[in-house]
Amino acid sequence: IYINPIKYLSKLERVKGIIIIMQDVTELRQLESIRRDFVANVSHELKTPITSIKGFVDTLSGGQVGDRKTQERFLKIISLEVERLTHLIEDILTLSHLESKPQDNQGQSILIPPLMESIFQMIQPLAQKKEIELRKEYLTPIPQIPFNPEYFKQMMINLLDNAIKYTPHGGRVWVEFMKKDNALVIKIQDNGIGIPREDIPRLFERFYRVDKGRTREEGGTGLGLAIVKHIVQGVKGEIKVESERGKGTIFTIALPLLEE
Ligand code: ADP
Repeated sequence: IYINPIKYLSKLERVKGIIIIMQDVTELRQLESIRRDFVANVSHELKTPITSIKGFVDTLSGGQVGDRKTQERFLKIISLEVERLTHLIEDILTLSHLESKPQDNQGQSILIPPLMESIFQMIQPLAQKKEIELRKEYLTPIPQIPFNPEYFKQMMINLLDNAIKYTPHGGRVWVEFMKKDNALVIKIQDNGIGIPREDIPRLFERFYRVDKGRTREEGGTGLGLAIVKHIVQGVKGEIKVESERGKGTIFTIALPLLEE
């Protein structure tokens, strides 16, 4: 809209000026809609395992299942669904903590190599199960970086866990670290199934999954990459993804270093 101030000024001669306050509520509306979607998604994600648990518990307690083998199979499903619920709630709490305290490094800085040793120890059994080769390489000397160690662990585990999950048996997952200009660059690469080009823009959204059935089967919550993005943005870093279907995926993270 355009308002001609002269028109009003000529009628009200003693007015020396006009202040027009306009508020753009587009962003507010968008935030409100994201929040609404999130609540709806969380409710749906919680409901699915709860419905399944209730169904199996009802069947078992109704005494319809006589043989022990089937009972054990049902109990195993219940236990897996409880695990899924626990994982989902942990991820939701992490996201909410990251939103309220995005730069929670409390003056801490980290030394990457020893931290990566413990991360690899945690993740190695997953890789071994699929006979995936897991490697890391330091291409330059790596300085200490200001970072919350728990956030760093979570970021790397989420990305490595995905790389292993979406890489077939016998594949390769490798991580490279290098100092470049005033940033620490981390590349997490795999030669797995890749991500279709059209899915890449929405990849970091909460609960966005490329193949819903498949990731659910793998036990994913759909929140892993949203958490990673929050952690990276919390330290004013950047993350990007390059991928080719059937060839593999590279996540590149650039974390700013302190001025020397
Ligand atoms: P999930 O818990 O489902 O793995 P994420 O937020 O971690 O959720 O990832 C979102 C989606 O991105 C996944 O469902 C998967 O389809 C895709 N994805 C993430 N990492 C990779 C990867 N390294 N290779 C192929 N697809 C991936």
